[in-house]
Amino acid sequence: GAGAAAPAAAQAAKLPAYLDARLPVHKRVEDLLSRMTLDEKIGQMTQAERAAVTPEDITRYRIGSVLSGGGSTPTPNTPQAWADMYDQFQRAALATPKRIPMIYGVDAVHGHNNLVGATIFPHNIGLGATRDPELVKKIGRATAEEVAATGVDWTFAPCLCVARNDRWGRTYESFGEVPELPAAMSVIVDGFQGRKLNGPTSILATAKHYVGDGGTTGGVDQGDTQVSEAELRRIHLPPFRAAVKRGVGSVMVSFSSWNGVKMHGHRYLITDVLKKELGFKGFVVSDWNGIDQIDGQPGFTPQEVSTAINAGIDMVMVPYDWRKFIDTLRAEVRAGHVSMARINDANRRILTKKFELGLFERPFADRRHQRTIGSAEHRALARRAVAESQVLLKNKGNVLPLSRHHNKIFVAGKAADDIGIQSGGWTITWQGSPGAITPGTTILEGIRQTVGKSTTVDYSKDGSGIDGSYKAAIAVVGELPYAEFEGDRPGEMGLDAEDLQTIERLRASGVPVIVVLVSGRPLDIAKELPGWDALVASWLPGTEGRGVADVLFGVTKPTGKLPMTWMASADQQPINRGDGKKPLFPFGYGLTYRR
Ligand code: BGC
Repeated sequence: GAGAAAPAAAQAAKLPAYLDARLPVHKRVEDLLSRMTLDEKIGQMTQAERAAVTPEDITRYRIGSVLSGGGSTPTPNTPQAWADMYDQFQRAALATPKRIPMIYGVDAVHGHNNLVGATIFPHNIGLGATRDPELVKKIGRATAEEVAATGVDWTFAPCLCVARNDRWGRTYESFGEVPELPAAMSVIVDGFQGRKLNGPTSILATAKHYVGDGGTTGGVDQGDTQVSEAELRRIHLPPFRAAVKRGVGSVMVSFSSWNGVKMHGHRYLITDVLKKELGFKGFVVSDWNGIDQIDGQPGFTPQEVSTAINAGIDMVMVPYDWRKFIDTLRAEVRAGHVSMARINDANRRILTKKFELGLFERPFADRRHQRTIGSAEHRALARRAVAESQVLLKNKGNVLPLSRHHNKIFVAGKAADDIGIQSGGWTITWQGSPGAITPGTTILEGIRQTVGKSTTVDYSKDGSGIDGSYKAAIAVVGELPYAEFEGDRPGEMGLDAEDLQTIERLRASGVPVIVVLVSGRPLDIAKELPGWDALVASWLPGTEGRGVADVLFGVTKPTGKLPMTWMASADQQPINRGDGKKPLFPFGYGLTYRR
């Protein structure tokens, strides 16, 4: 939110110091803090789900932050509606005695993915395959432009998890299985936050989920990361260290535990390591109702609230029971279980970012940038990212690249002509879904746009109708969308029966078969692979399917490298521990074309 008018300059002399934009931020923060009541301070530490608060609640309870969470009811669908909603909440926040603006957060984890019509970029696993931090920084910038144009100030991204077990349903949110990759790609923070936080299209970034979320035993989402402190520091901490160095504005705590202790109550890791040792100066936000998980019983207790705040959490994503949270924290402070020093520290951190973002001067949505939403320029950037993220894993007899001319091609598979499937989870809704959920170019459309007039492209979803007259068949298959624990795969990790049958139909024709795998992670395909002529890992490319076609037809040479070791069987998981298991493809693998 950055745009419309600041308080009249002529009034400046009469205004309290914290409203004077000429003063340094720390002076403004101290001045404001010295004027605030306990209830106002608790309000700043409260983040409510937008479907659970009214603008009147924001004013009355001094609530400092609103979010549209993944698990939220449907959010507005047009840029205008988003900006109107934002401004309505902001007006309510400014209608309080201290006129402290609220900060609005969303999960813009691969573009402004809650908004129909936004550019949807590849999920992080694909970006990890590009090995191109400069590109990833540009994606951060483009995303921030689209997000800021709807008023939203803050994204819960990047996820800097180091995914160590492909069974984990959030593997696709990881830039890769070794700390160096997420650490390098944390440069996306620079893209989100811009050169200065108060730039008109700068948004606050969040390094998440602190710490060890990708290391849980069995790859169980929100599970227990059973590793020594040395391993936690060697594998899981470095990306956060990198993000803190870049000045990331916020850090989100992980739902997971470390050796049985929930991160949401982990004072040593949050306060001693993150804030003191790494020198993190921003604010720590909880995950969705994360404080309720500390004691394992449903419903958060006073003990859980004080434990979380004393551990170093500055803002709580409540998200629904915000009245109860406010009352509980007030009682805990009054009982002496949470010190005023801790409350002041949390407020200092939050208010500093609000001042730095320029929210006090330009609190409302700046709609001028709405033309960038889903713009040709951003879609071209996404298409390039898609092309760079493709990993060529097999290419028997150089069947790829396909010729664009005088060719006859058959395309099949449930993921061939489906924007929803190729975008994956966290697209329009939390779980994502198959179907035409947002504008974009499907992989089939991308292929049709790439070939010349002398080439025929025929398509059937299940592969029926193919015969021996085609020169190549392309099967676009893989995983249906999912997010978080819903994507955990404790059992088999192969293709589903529908995909296997589609591929079999194509193979039966005798035509060379190219498999394009749309998935959030490596799949168990070792048994089928010998029957395929070529294999391309496409990951979850997002709305610009043309980038996949660019690689299939050699418009762009494949340069992607595996960000994950590729298992030879599901029982090898976890496969990246250097314990002698023989993978199907090693970490870093990726072929290219000679010509
Ligand atoms: C996820 C976070 C996300 C939050 C808000 C949680 O369930 O773990 O990654 O930022 O929801 O949507």
